[in-house]
Amino acid sequence: MLLATIGMPPSWRRERPRRTGTPCVEKLAVASCELCESPGGPVLWRNALARVVAVEDVDYPGFCRVILNRHAAEMTDLAEADQHALLAVVLAVEAVLRAVVRPHKINLASLGNVVPHVHWHVIPRFRDDRHFPAPVWAAPARASAPARRVDAEALRSALAARLGPSLAA
Ligand SMILES: [Zn+2]
Repeated sequence: MLLATIGMPPSWRRERPRRTGTPCVEKLAVASCELCESPGGPVLWRNALARVVAVEDVDYPGFCRVILNRHAAEMTDLAEADQHALLAVVLAVEAVLRAVVRPHKINLASLGNVVPHVHWHVIPRFRDDRHFPAPVWAAPARASAPARRVDAEALRSALAARLGPSLAA
């Protein structure tokens, strides 16, 4: 069961339920946690608590994840100050994506059913994107969507302007 996550490509986007109901042993789950073992994507910004990574998905340019740097499964596993600090980063990413990408809508999601390590999806949505108005994890609503480009450097500088300088990756 735990080996199933190891071969998962780093660009995983759609979270699938585990096939087994066997409870995880926390120590073993951490040992095989993809988000403890790798950044989870190109890092756009980071501090001591969390990092913002770009999700390289051709259907969803600008899709970002905010990932806690240490392992925890649930938001309520964090101290209250860290909960607030992490949510402040999520909201900053939302604000930056609204300003830089100008989507019709932002989707915020925290699932973690496949990778139970605290992370937030911040997804710019357009009315003509592949899944709108359904979540990006649903069956596609259309075969293709207009190509859009998002400049990662513009996101990096906007995040630094809003959150302060990024620590080195
Ligand atoms: Zn982890």
